[in-house]
Amino acid sequence: MTEVRTRFAPSPTGFMHLGGVRTALYAYLFAKKNGGKFILRIEDTDQERFVEGATEVIYDTLKGCGMDWDEGPDVGGDYGPYVQSERKHMYLPYAQELVEKGAAYYCFCTKEELDERRAAAEAKGEVFKYDKHCLNLSKEEIQEKLDAGTPYVIRLNCPTEGESAYDDEVFGHISFPNSDLDDMVLIKQDGMPTYNFANVIDDHLMGITHVLRGMEYLSSTPKYNLLYKAFGWEIPKYVHLTTVMRDAQHKLSKRDGDAYYSDFIEKGYLKEALINYLALVGWNPGDDREFFTMDELIDAFDVKRLNTSPGIFDVTKLTWMNAQYIAKMDFDAYLEMATPWFDKVLAGKGMDYKRLAELMQSRTEVFNRIPDMIRFLAEMPEFSDELYFHKKMKCDAQVAKENLQLVLPVMEGIEKWNEQNIHDIVMAAIQESGKKNGAVLWPLRIAISGQANTPGGAFEIAYLLGKDETIRRMKDSLAKLG
Ligand code: GLU
Repeated sequence: MTEVRTRFAPSPTGFMHLGGVRTALYAYLFAKKNGGKFILRIEDTDQERFVEGATEVIYDTLKGCGMDWDEGPDVGGDYGPYVQSERKHMYLPYAQELVEKGAAYYCFCTKEELDERRAAAEAKGEVFKYDKHCLNLSKEEIQEKLDAGTPYVIRLNCPTEGESAYDDEVFGHISFPNSDLDDMVLIKQDGMPTYNFANVIDDHLMGITHVLRGMEYLSSTPKYNLLYKAFGWEIPKYVHLTTVMRDAQHKLSKRDGDAYYSDFIEKGYLKEALINYLALVGWNPGDDREFFTMDELIDAFDVKRLNTSPGIFDVTKLTWMNAQYIAKMDFDAYLEMATPWFDKVLAGKGMDYKRLAELMQSRTEVFNRIPDMIRFLAEMPEFSDELYFHKKMKCDAQVAKENLQLVLPVMEGIEKWNEQNIHDIVMAAIQESGKKNGAVLWPLRIAISGQANTPGGAFEIAYLLGKDETIRRMKDSLAKLG
């Protein structure tokens, strides 16, 4: 059996769209599942301008996600080069071969002529297709023009009748009427290949057995197949993937900040969670499993379970999954990742980040939510005395005042300000007073945090704030109670 070879063939735009990451993932999983090779090819033909650092973005994303390629621009391989711009010279002879075979032809029509014909077609409400004008030139006419150095392109000679069909691994039998096919340009006036041509030649030369790519290529595939047939090459298997959507109507968009892989990484989603979730947008394992490592994905992956309906990228679901991944993270790794987010509000305050991280890890859904959750530690928020009211704790503003007055001197008297001491000393004082724990600890936490929900209770927060700040906040809150 021939070895399975898949490729990811991104154009270096400077960003990795989530749909692209998912395409790469499925191509990677499919290759690995079948003991094959995953190839990275940079498709920079047709690229208007060079984008600085764009290939690095591709490398970093794939590597970061654990998709190592077996062959590619940086690691080499037997089928290189793996960057199209370095293969520029390879394509023209293939187009000339097609001309000899009668499957392609020279076209000398000028841009002006084409524009005119396009305008005429559009005026009649027709979609312009190249009218095969130059297909009728005689051998002598062609040679004359070539000898005279007349600029030309090479076009594919598409059939105009009947239909072209193929079987897609996901979408099944696909057919398009040949009357829709345009005689696409294979080689441009400057001698360079068009994107479509280079893509096919490269897939063949690189021995690609399975082409996994976005379904926007479903309708160009018949043209690609014409090329394979004209050369007498074996057509690869096609696995077209549905579009990743925000919801049934909307694509992920750059404007909404939810289209690129980097958008999510910058917000503080974990790569592992993102990959795990992306795998499930458009594919299912056939059972109710939701959590997968890369190895488990390789094991479970099956193209038969790729969906034909659009994959909905549900950020709420991703966020839920991300929280699970964060909760299970190694503590030191969490601390390291959380530190810059702590710093955004607490830099220079000398706070015990380790203790803070212990309190925050199970509560962190996405890292960028941390600053808002801990801002109260940097700065006492405004709050209304109504916040002291708590039915079950039997507390209101009046009770809060009494109990804060009771506990303030106790806390002022604590010499060694650590969590254990604060706990033991305050609890002993509560015990002695005969009051209920909640009736003291609830208002204490409100008085020093200004909010009802906090990571950690009164003792943890008092410890993190430090003695001076805790006492200052208690006094301020008491003063407000009048
Ligand atoms: N370079 C194409 C893209 O970035 C890939 C097309 C393909 O996989 O065939 O969309």
